[in-house]
Amino acid sequence: MMTEIPSQPVESITCSSCEACCCRLEVFLITDTGVPDRFIEQSEAGGLVMARLDDGWCAALDRSTMLCTIYEKRPWVCREFEMGSYECRVERAEHL
Ligand code: SF4
Ligand code: SF4
Repeated sequence: MMTEIPSQPVESITCSSCEACCCRLEVFLITDTGVPDRFIEQSEAGGLVMARLDDGWCAALDRSTMLCTIYEKRPWVCREFEMGSYECRVERAEHL
């Protein structure tokens, strides 16, 4: 079933008015982009994922700026996640 999301205009969605909601998702490491080992964990299913803190946010997120501290080396999944996409709006609806 599709999650109900508000009909907020896509043009008004911006990462700068978002507390990095998508950085609470489980991020699988599909390709090697140079993520430092200290941010990598093994998932229960056995794959490699970004480590997350107890509150759910990715361990590589700068908590004062809410920006990615490894932006140039961020995983492929993070690069593909599109601002304003359905997935983005679902995360915002759940956390903002
Ligand atoms: S991509 Fe979407 S959910 Fe992620 S920080 Fe930007 S606006 Fe927020
Ligand atoms: S690696 Fe960076 S962009 Fe990806 S979830 Fe972590 S903080 Fe967010």
